[in-house]
Amino acid sequence: MNKIGVTELRELIVAISERVASERDLLNRLDAALGDGDHGSSVSTAFEAAVEDIAALNEPSLSAIWLTTAKALMNRMGGASGAIFGTFFLRGVSLLREREGLDKAEMEAVLKAGLAGVKARGKAQLGDKTMVDALEPAMAAFAAAEDFRAAWSAAAQAAHEGAETTRNLLARQGRAKYLGERAIGRIDPGAMTVALMFAAIDNYWRANCK
Ligand code: ADP
Ligand code: MG
Repeated sequence: MNKIGVTELRELIVAISERVASERDLLNRLDAALGDGDHGSSVSTAFEAAVEDIAALNEPSLSAIWLTTAKALMNRMGGASGAIFGTFFLRGVSLLREREGLDKAEMEAVLKAGLAGVKARGKAQLGDKTMVDALEPAMAAFAAAEDFRAAWSAAAQAAHEGAETTRNLLARQGRAKYLGERAIGRIDPGAMTVALMFAAIDNYWRANCK
């Protein structure tokens, strides 16, 4: 398959929601070590809300799905990270307007806009021990691949490796920055969420999109 339509985009959000829900306790544990322990609960509640709100849309379009997800993350997640995750989706909305399907280059532009939004909003750079450490390499891997199947799989791999790199970093953003050296040895929960999101999409794609 070389186009993402409304059905696929909706199912990608469902796949992400299911994956973060099933890893809620792990994400809470990671955040308990570096922050306040709520990350898994808040991210899974917000994606569950996104799935419900998308199901309730009268006219689901690509942009409505992305905007509904952005709003659910911003309104239901709370904290700094809800705004930052929400910005990731919000920045792609205008690129999705009036479109019925997305090819790989168009999806790439949506992800790229999202990453730029995350960096503008949160001011984190690569190496600051945040979700950017998973998102930026995932984006680069997606861009370098030929088609959707290869791109999702490369992005999932890169996000996973990126999340692993946060283990040995000092935190320069978010609550974890107050821990100093004590942050070493722990994976950043937001980076792990990004890795799970791309893993969920990759699994969905391999199972459903030939
Ligand atoms: P909170 O810290 O408000 O409790 P969460 O626990 O839900 O929020 O999310 C924490 C995650 O947010 C971190 O693991 C990190 O990946 C991400 N994060 C925090 N601050 C920033 C930032 N300035 N830029 C990008 N990501 C950030
Ligand atoms: Mg937290």
